[in-house]
Order: sequence, then structure tokens, then C-alpha cells
Amino acid sequence: MGAASAVLAGLDDVRPWQEDLYRDLHQHAELSHQEHVTASKIAERLEHAGYRVHTGVGGTGVVGVLANGDGPSVLLRADMDALPVREATGLPYASAATGVDTDGNEVPVAHACGHDMHVVCLLGAAHLLAAATPHWSGTVTAIFQPGEEAGDGARAMVEDGLLGIVPRPDVAFAQHVLPVPAGQIGTRSGAVLSSADSMHVTVYGRGGHGSMPQATVDPVVLVAMIVVRLQTVISREIAPTDPAVLTVGSIQAGSKSNVIPDRADMQLNVRTYSEQTRARVLEAIRRIVTAECEASACPRQPDFSLYDRFPLTTNEAATTERVAAAFARFFGDRAGSLPHQTASEDFSDIPTAFATPYTYWGVGCIDAETYRKAEESGRVAEDVPVNHAPGFAPVLQPTCDTGTQALVVAALAWLSS
Ligand code: ZN
Ligand code: ZN
Repeated sequence: MGAASAVLAGLDDVRPWQEDLYRDLHQHAELSHQEHVTASKIAERLEHAGYRVHTGVGGTGVVGVLANGDGPSVLLRADMDALPVREATGLPYASAATGVDTDGNEVPVAHACGHDMHVVCLLGAAHLLAAATPHWSGTVTAIFQPGEEAGDGARAMVEDGLLGIVPRPDVAFAQHVLPVPAGQIGTRSGAVLSSADSMHVTVYGRGGHGSMPQATVDPVVLVAMIVVRLQTVISREIAPTDPAVLTVGSIQAGSKSNVIPDRADMQLNVRTYSEQTRARVLEAIRRIVTAECEASACPRQPDFSLYDRFPLTTNEAATTERVAAAFARFFGDRAGSLPHQTASEDFSDIPTAFATPYTYWGVGCIDAETYRKAEESGRVAEDVPVNHAPGFAPVLQPTCDTGTQALVVAALAWLSS
């Protein structure tokens, strides 16, 4: 019997508490950087399994280390925050939780991205490895990070001294539930998730009466020009083979029909798959905005500020091939390739800080029968809720088993060879 089968023989014992804990976490969702109750439940489980536990790392982050003799060091990471979304899944354990966001507003809170599933999968895998130490050797580090949705939770843990409290890993893994059939698992080498940058742009005009435009510099006309011109960045400056997205998600200017305002604010979002393209797109935005302000004779230079920045997630080839081979052996034809995702993640900030190779994979989480029916009727886009949608929630099984098995199988591809 292989090490994976031996370790996973304990799955029947962990599954009942995993499912209970999942429903509990789902119902008691907490916003980014406020994952206090979630973190204490995680710490308790890790201690119970025999891990050396550090809490409060980068705010609410939890770290568990289990040293089991000589051998490779493997880092497994889950995120644990929820979103300001009002859950509309109709599940008996749907969240009715509320929280206070960073602007001080009370908001509904739900695990609309499935991070509660990531938590219970990693806790289950950590427990299974701890209960079967004769079958492997090396070190396992389980990391539960805050604030993934804010894009700064992984960095917060690194800045709070993560490198000093855990052994340097030889390899790092993370996973995410995706709106494809549950039971499936997908990997891909190379750039797998885009980098993301949000940018706030303020342009300055000269305000005045709506009947006297000759005395003003109208920022409304200016931002209209900017929005149109920005459409040429991806279509004319970036190679058609290089995927990139530039979205203007918000424009704010003025408050009355007969007043020309003196400024306009825009919020932009950029997704790219290489650092070169990222730099090029951000530079093109600055160039175009500045030139349009010049063309309008603005009295002041525009202001730019970047926020919600997510690093590129690039799966290291040799690491990914080794994991993909282990998945193919264990999952058979349920293992496949993961398409490019235009979503973004901050996981890579952790392995990058250690200069450790990493790979990140996707786990299906939609009831297979529901998905099949949607596919047959050509209604996947309409009938299958995606991450962050109010109707999104993973089907508990086989999602939980698959995510737990994946972490154990990948870890053992290093720890038992
Ligand atoms: Zn998310
Ligand atoms: Zn997520």
C-alpha cells in the first residue's frame, strides 16, 4: 500500500468533524482581517493534532508546524476570510452573519469564495498526516492566512516575521475551489492566476456654471475621452497572444446638471500574466491620462494611486509536474488541467518570500449532476454560480474529501519519496 493510501485510510475518522466544522465556519463567516473566531477554532484543532502552533501572525494568521524526522519541508496554505456578500444559497447552514467593513458600515458576511472549505481541507490533511507519522518523514507547515480577499494577508504574515518561526519550505502548495464539477482537480504549469492592480485616478478641471463652459475645464468630457482612449491599451499596445484586462469600474464626477465640477475620480482594474505586461499597461494608463489632461488644458497634473495589488501566481514547472503525476496516480481521470484564471491570489507572496517553488491547483465544487444538466442545456453561465456570487457555495461532498486528499497526496509526493 502506498503512503497516500495509508495516510488517507484515516479519512473516515476526520470526515465527520470536518463536515461539522465546515457548516459551523460557513454559518459564522468573518470579514478579511477579522477572522478571530475562525482562527481560534483552527488553532485548537492544530494543537489537538500535535502541531506546534503560532497565533496572531500578521493579525489573525495561524501557523502549525509538525516536525517528523529528516526529510523535505512542505508548506500547505489555506485562506480563511469571507466577503461582504448577502448569502442566497438557501442552505440550512447559510450565513446570516454581519460584520463591520473598513469604512465602518455594517455589512452581511458570507463565505462566497469557499475559503471555509479550504480551511477544513487543510485541517483534515494536517490531522491525517499527524496521525500517520510512520508513513512519512520531514516537516509539515500548515498556514492559515487572513485577508486573502484584501490581497494583503499573506504579505502581513511575512512582514510579521513568518520566516523566523517556520522552517524554510522546499515546496509550497495552495488550492482553491472553482465552479466546475466536484470531485475534479486541475493543475497547470506557468502563469495560472493573473496579477491584479487597482488604480485610483483623479483628474482636475476648473469648475463653473453649466451655461459658461468657456470659463471652465470640464473633467466630465475629459474622463469620457480617457475611458475611450484606454480601450486601445490592450487592443493596440499588447500582443493579441498575451491576455490582459483593463476595466474602468467606477467614475465619479459632479452632482448637478448645471454645474461643471472641478474634478473627476476613476477606479481602474488591471489583470496581466507577466511582470513586463503589467508594467507596460500601468505605464500606458499614466501616459494616456496625463496626455489627455494636457489636451484639456487641466490646471493641475492628475493623481494616481495603486491599491488592492495581487502578485502573479506562476506555478513552477518541475513542482507542478510532480504534483500532477501524483494526482493522476491517485485521482485517475478526475485529474486534469486547470484553465487560465483571470482571478488573482496573494498566496505566492509566502513562497516568494522564502524563494521556494510552489504550485497552486483548482478543486471542483459544484454538484456534478447540477453541472451536467446546466452544460446539457447550454446554461452553465446562468445556472452555475461562480465565486463571489450570492448563490455560490461548494457542495460539501465530494469537495471536502477531494481537497483533503489533494493536499495529502501532494505533500506525500515529497515526504514519502
Ligand atoms: Zn475570492
Ligand atoms: Zn478565494
